[in-house]
Amino acid sequence: MRPALRLPSSLGTRRHLTSQTISTIRAFSTSYRQANRNYATVTSGSPSLTVTQTIGESSLPFGYGSYTPSSNKAQDTPIHHIRIPAFASLTAERNFRKLHHAAGLRWLGHNGYNNEGAGGHVTVRDPILTDHMWINPHGKSFSWMRPEDLVLINEDGQVVDGHGGNMHSVNPAGYVIHSAIHRARPDVVAVVHCHSVPSKAFSSLGTMLEPINQDACRFYKDHGLAPFGGIALEKHVEGEHIAAALGSTKACILQNHGHLTAAKSVDAAVFLFGAFDRCIQAQLMADAAVAGRKARGETTGTETIKASEEVANYTREIYNDEMAYIMFQSAFEDVVRASGGELSMRVEGEIARV
Ligand SMILES: [Zn+2]
Repeated sequence: MRPALRLPSSLGTRRHLTSQTISTIRAFSTSYRQANRNYATVTSGSPSLTVTQTIGESSLPFGYGSYTPSSNKAQDTPIHHIRIPAFASLTAERNFRKLHHAAGLRWLGHNGYNNEGAGGHVTVRDPILTDHMWINPHGKSFSWMRPEDLVLINEDGQVVDGHGGNMHSVNPAGYVIHSAIHRARPDVVAVVHCHSVPSKAFSSLGTMLEPINQDACRFYKDHGLAPFGGIALEKHVEGEHIAAALGSTKACILQNHGHLTAAKSVDAAVFLFGAFDRCIQAQLMADAAVAGRKARGETTGTETIKASEEVANYTREIYNDEMAYIMFQSAFEDVVRASGGELSMRVEGEIARV
């Protein structure tokens, strides 16, 4: 008997819409948006069948890279796609999450997001003990993180022994903020929060990200704004306020603090964290340019042009969760190659999907 193949809980199904027109894809957007939040787990005896069967509602109307855009015609011969893999076992999925967790932390470290020391944390839900989460050890460099360095904590914030976790202290604020989100959002696998200079500035404005470019549309009406209630150490209520402000969205501006992202994979959450930060920088630059042009009496370029409601909504729906995972894979490769063999590209029991 073949071993059961377990699709990752973060995975939706893909439906090839090779004969669909763009307008039809747009019509899918609303139902897709909800369906993509579904949290599906499926087992089957046949890998080849399992990876293509429908899990509840269709959740991915756009097969990224799976058809020839110029002709809207299906690819005749199989090609390799980068996709969220399936797993031979829950242990394989745990090891995959820990590998990508460590790689995500390294990427954040390489990009300067570890510069506030302990003021940064990444959590990943354990696929076996689903009310437990993995977190980076307190005070350790992101840039050298290995899967075995990660710490497993339970829902009470206690460091857990016996499951391969590093018996090391963790940042209490990381537990307070992230555990509240993991509790409130069973669909969320990973949460990323660090302090960046742009987010320190932008979060003081009390305003939202505007759809002033394609990438910012990814977050259009899909992020929250949490008022600042003080450092979240023993104040558990602060974590709950942030979880409430995040709601069902993918990101949250923490006023007078920074920002945070949540997703169905750590790859997607890390990618979205960097993407949100770059969008913040772009908006600050554009708004500063507008102010400068107005001040010197220019008659053009005195207001940023925003994407229309329809275009912003459409673009956000295309940027689904698996897309965010895919977007991070080139960075994952960079990190693995730069690790000099400390990290691997794959874990045992990881099964590529086509
Ligand atoms: Zn913080």
